[in-house]
Amino acid sequence: MKRSRQIVLVANCILNPNAKVYGLVQSDLKNSIIKDLMDENIGIIQMPCIEMEMCGLRRWGQVREQLDHEAFRNRCRKRLKPIVQQVCDFDKQGYKILGIIGIDGSPACGIHFTPTGDWYGEFNSELNYSDRISNMQMEPAPGIMIQELETMLKRKNLTVKYYALNEVDLYENKNKIMQALRSDISKEGE
Ligand code: SF4
Repeated sequence: MKRSRQIVLVANCILNPNAKVYGLVQSDLKNSIIKDLMDENIGIIQMPCIEMEMCGLRRWGQVREQLDHEAFRNRCRKRLKPIVQQVCDFDKQGYKILGIIGIDGSPACGIHFTPTGDWYGEFNSELNYSDRISNMQMEPAPGIMIQELETMLKRKNLTVKYYALNEVDLYENKNKIMQALRSDISKEGE
C-alpha cells in the first residue's frame, strides 16, 4: 500500500460514538466522516476521551467549568503526550498533519464553542438545580482538552488547522471539512 503521508487527529467519539453522553448522538458510523477520510487514504489518529476515562459512560453532560480543574487538565496532558510525540515524528519525517477534528458543544473537545454555566452540586431544591441547568450557554472558546493540546503543539512549534463537527449532529459539517482537507491535499501535490 502506498503511504498517503496525510494524517488527521480526531476526537475519540468520531470513531466511536458509543463514548458519548447518553442522549446525544445515535451510533451511525455509516454516515461518518471516517468513511470520507478513509476514501481519501488519510491516516487517522484517535484522541482519548478524557470525560469517559474519568467519569465513565453513565456520566451526566457537563459544562466547561466542571472540567476546568487541575486533575482533568493533568490527565489531558498525560494522555496527549504520546500523541503529540507521534505528531512531532510524523512532521519531522515530512508527513502532513492536515488538521484536528474536534466536537463543537463538548466541554472537552470543543473547537469553536463549548458549553458554559454555573453547574455543580446536588439535584435538590436548595440549589435550585433547574435554574442552574437552564443557565447553560455556548461560549466561543475551545474545550479543556483541545486547549491543552493547542498549548502542547505550540510548544513544539507545530501549527495545525482545527475543524469541528457538532455535538448534536456528528455528520453535519463533514462535507465542509472534507472540502478543506481535500484542498490542502491538492496543494501538497502542486
Ligand atoms: S466530544 Fe470528546 S469528551 Fe465528548 S464524548 Fe467525544 S471524545 Fe469524549
